Amino acid sequence: MLGGPSRGHERGVGASVKLQEFAAKELLVRAGLPVPEWSVAETAAQARDQASGYLAAGAASVVIKAQVLVGGRGKAGGVKLAASADEAETVARSILGMDIKGITVRRVLVAPAADIASEFYLAAVLDRTVRRIRVMASAQGGVEIEQVAESDPDAIVSVLAHPHLGLLDHQARRIAFGMGLADRWKEAVPVIKAVYATAIANDADLVEINPLAIVRTAGPDGTVRESIQALDAKITIDDSALPRHPELETLRDEAEEDPVDVEARRLGLSFIRLEGTIGCMVNGAGLAMTTMDLVKRAGGEPANFLDIGGGAKADRVAEAMRLILSDPSVRVILVNIFGGIARGDEVARGLLAARSEQARAVPMVARIVGTNADLAADLLRGSGAGIEAATTLDGAVERAVELARAAA
Ligand code: GDP
Ligand code: MN
Repeated sequence: MLGGPSRGHERGVGASVKLQEFAAKELLVRAGLPVPEWSVAETAAQARDQASGYLAAGAASVVIKAQVLVGGRGKAGGVKLAASADEAETVARSILGMDIKGITVRRVLVAPAADIASEFYLAAVLDRTVRRIRVMASAQGGVEIEQVAESDPDAIVSVLAHPHLGLLDHQARRIAFGMGLADRWKEAVPVIKAVYATAIANDADLVEINPLAIVRTAGPDGTVRESIQALDAKITIDDSALPRHPELETLRDEAEEDPVDVEARRLGLSFIRLEGTIGCMVNGAGLAMTTMDLVKRAGGEPANFLDIGGGAKADRVAEAMRLILSDPSVRVILVNIFGGIARGDEVARGLLAARSEQARAVPMVARIVGTNADLAADLLRGSGAGIEAATTLDGAVERAVELARAAA
């Protein structure tokens, strides 16, 4: 396939929603997974208060963790332990405002520090090639799984859950044994099943716990007990499933998303940014895919996938145009509208409105057919706005590719 939403999906652009660790942990708790208690702080003073609470309740130390949507926070200095309230405040102050892989830390998670005996990897991930949820695990936890996959692929066990029957007991046991938890398989099996259940319940394409740890806790009488705990959590939700989970909207972190994606969602437009130079404004997902394919065939590269939907009114067209133009690599805009419910003249009016306030002089080629197509062509020609009206789709695409080349 040439372009389109699924390509955006593979690249992780705009199509899946990453949850912060504290939000992901909330979903794990709902599924019954063992997670040490936590709180979230936005200031060093808050972190100090929270840390004092845990220390007073008996924690030997607390862990303070940057809440940013990137992996490897530990290596980047975003995960630190503190043994006193003073130290917690100092550590929180150093992590807040820190830059981790280009993202500024605005919040930290504060939790009683776990006394870790060993670390494991456990995840449920949507395997698109077989269209099933794959449950994967490894005794080599705490390190990035890609690294394990490369250096020691045999250290990873995985099973495919059945699409209707789910993750079967024997599969969960196989994972438990394969990941080195044979001696506590009765405790591990419900944990493994709950990770799978979290993926299903939330339409997640990834639920990853790294590390899942065996943690030592001392009881009131001083006896040490070991139990399995989820110490980190990474969850991404398929955004086409979000309408089924309105409660997850409140867990998403728009501040870390691409502003263009946030704006497109606000406008109710289906928009995915791609890497080319030809901005495409099309109504209907199928027509949008076709348009991108034709652009590619003519030697051009689409800058985006955009479906402005049916019944597009002038203001919506203008908003879509602003979105396309916010991408500096766009050199030409190709409009391909089939006027059914959307009236051609409405679309043309929207184009002209957008044109009049366009910050950047980008050439535009419009192919508008169907309802009021004649009116649309008259409006565009008569406006003197320099929007080229094309009569055929092939002609429009060729012209757009030519203009993009000329502007390169
Ligand atoms: P990541 O680096 O972004 O994956 O962040 P993690 O939450 O996985 O933390 C990185 C590492 O910090 C873990 O692999 C642990 O070794 C360590 N760590 C995290 N939480 C705790 C904790 O509560 N106690 C201790 N001792 N170490 C922790
Ligand atoms: Mn981790």
